[in-house]
Amino acid sequence: MEYQNILEEIHATLKNVPEKGTVASYIPELEKVNINRFGLYLLMLNKEEHGTGDFDIPFSIQSISKVLSLAKALHFTGADLWKRVDVEPSGNPFNFLALLELEKGIPRNPFINAGAIVVSDILLSYFSDPKKDFLNYVRELAEDDSINYNEAVARSEKATGFRNAAAANLLKSFGNIHNKVENVLDFYFYQCSLSMTCRQLARTFYMFANSGKNASGKVFLTPSQAKRINAVMLTCGFYDEAGEFAFEVGLPGKSGVGGGIVAVHPEKYCISTWSPGLNEKGNSLLGMQALEVFTTRTGLSIF
Ligand code: GLU
Repeated sequence: MEYQNILEEIHATLKNVPEKGTVASYIPELEKVNINRFGLYLLMLNKEEHGTGDFDIPFSIQSISKVLSLAKALHFTGADLWKRVDVEPSGNPFNFLALLELEKGIPRNPFINAGAIVVSDILLSYFSDPKKDFLNYVRELAEDDSINYNEAVARSEKATGFRNAAAANLLKSFGNIHNKVENVLDFYFYQCSLSMTCRQLARTFYMFANSGKNASGKVFLTPSQAKRINAVMLTCGFYDEAGEFAFEVGLPGKSGVGGGIVAVHPEKYCISTWSPGLNEKGNSLLGMQALEVFTTRTGLSIF
């Protein structure tokens, strides 16, 4: 199969469409990005790689980081993690607070903000230098020391993240945050500000396609843990559009409000896209379309 040609055709067809969605503006710093950026990158399990467009330009991965924090927290705690966060799809936006099952303080899943904030709290309890240790973990996964946080994005979200602060305080009131709320939020905002290219993202997520081992064969998760995280990506990875993504694309994946999407076909490949314009559900408009065409053209979906 000529994967490079397929990616180039998808890129050429979609890059000039007039309707590109809307760049996220609720984190002021994110609004500065050029809406015409568009990159696609494919990494096969045999390490064959293909890219087109802006696949080497870094962008804010935002909620995509929640999969990486979940992976590290699951590695630390094992299945005990699921006592503090559930695994049911929400059918509601990422910042919806009622999904903290109210009488228990257990967030509906680890990818709504409340769930991700609990996962950040777990990491804070295990790491000795949380921001540095998490960055090192991501660099190790990708085997790339150039990956970094975007401090301006982290500060911008910190200055405006009132709803996340509300979620963290509500969780704290239920006893489901063990560290200081201020420290948990600071770590969460940095985690979300991770800046990566499509190429780096695909390399980082390679382990989810490879039963928990990165491209050099280093073990980060057990096969069972990788399976479970893929299941959560499939059911909860796209806000209240997870059903649509499964229906159109047919892969586990995760999006972020920076316009990135990464998707995984276990045992076959990992693919990433970046186009900053979002649809009304907060997912990259062109990214979803690109992946739909890719799995349709190649027949490579999990269904
Ligand atoms: N840092 C963002 C927030 O908490 C992540 C949102 C996202 O990408 O879904 O609002």
